[in-house]
Amino acid sequence: MSSLFQNYARRPVHLVKGKGTIVTDQAGKEYLDFTSGIAVLSLGHAHPAIVQAIQQQSEKLWHTSNLFESPEQVQLATSLIEHTHFAHVFFCNSGAEANEAAIKLARKHTGKHTIITFENSFHGRTFGAMSATGQDKVRLGFGPLLETFRTVPFNDIEQLEASVDDSVGAIMLEIIQGEGGVNQITPEFAQVVADICASKGILLIVDEVQTGIGRTGTRFAYEQTVLKPDIITLAKGLGGGFPIGAMLGTTELYDTFGPGTHGTTFGGNPLAVAVAQTVLNHVFEEEFLEAVNEKSNYFQEKLKVALPGHTIVGTGLLLGIVCDVDVQSYIQKAEQAGLLLVGAGPNVIRLLPPLTVATEEIDQAVEILSSILTFVSQT
Ligand code: PLP
Repeated sequence: MSSLFQNYARRPVHLVKGKGTIVTDQAGKEYLDFTSGIAVLSLGHAHPAIVQAIQQQSEKLWHTSNLFESPEQVQLATSLIEHTHFAHVFFCNSGAEANEAAIKLARKHTGKHTIITFENSFHGRTFGAMSATGQDKVRLGFGPLLETFRTVPFNDIEQLEASVDDSVGAIMLEIIQGEGGVNQITPEFAQVVADICASKGILLIVDEVQTGIGRTGTRFAYEQTVLKPDIITLAKGLGGGFPIGAMLGTTELYDTFGPGTHGTTFGGNPLAVAVAQTVLNHVFEEEFLEAVNEKSNYFQEKLKVALPGHTIVGTGLLLGIVCDVDVQSYIQKAEQAGLLLVGAGPNVIRLLPPLTVATEEIDQAVEILSSILTFVSQT
């Protein structure tokens, strides 16, 4: 029995250090980290610029309350919203918290309580975010949930249209459902969502906690669709390993959160802001994003050649290999061979290397993947 609660199915690997894409366990064994801490380590492990940012900030100031002005938060907010139609940012500490903020903002702004969300979505573990999540396994045993979420099959135009009524204040979705199986929104469905939101005055919340900050080859994944969200939520890759979340909103929403309506002690903490600013200074450079797209194309081509029997899904460096069986045995075998992976949904292997991954590391990963997938299917 452990002194920790058993809420994680932990693997018996104790990682003690990391550099770039490589992590090392306490026995000295090295692994290629194609989980990136589940889409977190945008610049890989121990990137020198991040190490420097946190060292410098730690000698200056660790924490001030949001009672005081923070030009550093303003600068980070400006970096997030420039080249977008968003005007304001709220900082918090995690994806679930960013989604809580979005749910509260949408409800207060519209005065309407129903939010449409989608099957196989994942929005986090807090009560609002969990109630928004369209997966029974996440919600089981915690009821009664917030009643105000209406879960509709993803990419099902007819069911979406049938579920809209006057009580609906917002639609909340992921452009690619990362946890749910690397399921991408179809262009047809995105168009219908855009039309419904425009014609009925419904707010659109896009959860970019996993897809944002360059993960799909653009700053945000919605940029690759017709969608123009009112709100997006971020976390994971924004901090490159340091906890930070954010909610971006349009200028129409500015007055909804007056002083005292919402907040958090740690949100936008100086250490987190210093690291996130460093992440954005790298990831939001055009050449960096171009490189992500080039690596993605390279990776997908290699996978298609090495695994002709499998469908490859996803965009950028949020990719998935669709398998026809539970993927846990593949993930275990890959781990033994020195490649760390994570699943998505019941039968997809998710591939989330750091955005800084080298092509030789992609080659090594593909080699392991092809031997594992062939090996397991033959046993
Ligand atoms: N939203 C999405 C799309 C996610 O993938 C996750 C985490 O996996 C969350 C929200 C929750 O983020 P956090 O674990 O930081 O609360």
